[in-house]
Amino acid sequence: MVNPISTRRPFIIPIFLPHAGCPHQCVFCNQTSITGAQRDSVSPEKVERQIHEFLKYKGNDRRPVQAAFYGGNFLGLEKEYIKRLLDVSAKFVKNKEIDAIRFSTRPDTIDHDRIEIIKNYPITAVEIGVQSMDDGVLAMVKRGHSASDTQKAVALLQDRHYQIGLQMMVGLPEEDEAGSLSTAYRIGELEPDFVRIYPTIVLKNSLLARWYENGTYRPWSLERSIAHVKTLYLFFKKKNIPVIRMGLQASEDLDSGAAVLAGPYHPAFGHLVHSEIFLDMATEIMGHKSVSRDTATLKVHPKSISKMRGMKNSNVETLKRRFRLQSLKIVPDSSLPEDTLALSP
Ligand code: SF4
Repeated sequence: MVNPISTRRPFIIPIFLPHAGCPHQCVFCNQTSITGAQRDSVSPEKVERQIHEFLKYKGNDRRPVQAAFYGGNFLGLEKEYIKRLLDVSAKFVKNKEIDAIRFSTRPDTIDHDRIEIIKNYPITAVEIGVQSMDDGVLAMVKRGHSASDTQKAVALLQDRHYQIGLQMMVGLPEEDEAGSLSTAYRIGELEPDFVRIYPTIVLKNSLLARWYENGTYRPWSLERSIAHVKTLYLFFKKKNIPVIRMGLQASEDLDSGAAVLAGPYHPAFGHLVHSEIFLDMATEIMGHKSVSRDTATLKVHPKSISKMRGMKNSNVETLKRRFRLQSLKIVPDSSLPEDTLALSP
């Protein structure tokens, strides 16, 4: 196994295996819609071509490169097929064209037997679809595994020093904010290396779509989802667990609405959450220093300017109204950490 921990965000070569190896159809899922990839099986030759293709786009990007098998249940595939996919990817690692391999899988497919198959490959991170740590919610959404499967899977992978990513969802049927927070607490106790948070979207041709149409499921609004994911993000931040994604990766089908029936989909969901966090911080600091002038200036790291401004400058307008300002300037200051701001004297 390669040294798992790298502080630099890798350049990911995504290889989608929609629903491959899935023993169940989870109610919220339709990987074909999410990934835009077709459901036919991906041959090792196709994986090889795809990695070559992505390496061309990489150009001078100096980040570590990882081939990532997503969109299905990797360890649920046939053993021989797993090996063939890993063999072809590992060749690129051997030739130093990529640095490592990662994949996502279900917690109930991680056992000694499956770990034996992968143990000699250069796999750095394993991502587990946890979704919820409430057995009632897991049964309701037809996951077919329990919270204790996740705990066991994490323990097995931690024993072997894999980097572990845990994915959770918010807005699942029968799980409100308190339930979701308790899922986050239990995920935090497992001490993963990173997490991803996905709001539940009603995807066309999913079972959830039927529940939505017959009125048995109501998706969360975008505002509610942002407010709650903000709470979760801040919780994980306090525990020093990086949240590497909030919201589904934008795709043509998602953006055009072709795949989404209802729910809090937004192509820049994570940005909206960060903007809310900056709005809260600015409100606090400006309230605290009792801004009593017509103009004010906030300083933020250059990379955080758009988060501070908010979508279409919405944070600036809100703060101007809130503090009765004629003008509010946002200026870059690279001496500040990316997640802070300062009020100019
Ligand atoms: S959520 Fe994962 S396990 Fe469930 S159907 Fe989708 S890809 Fe398969």
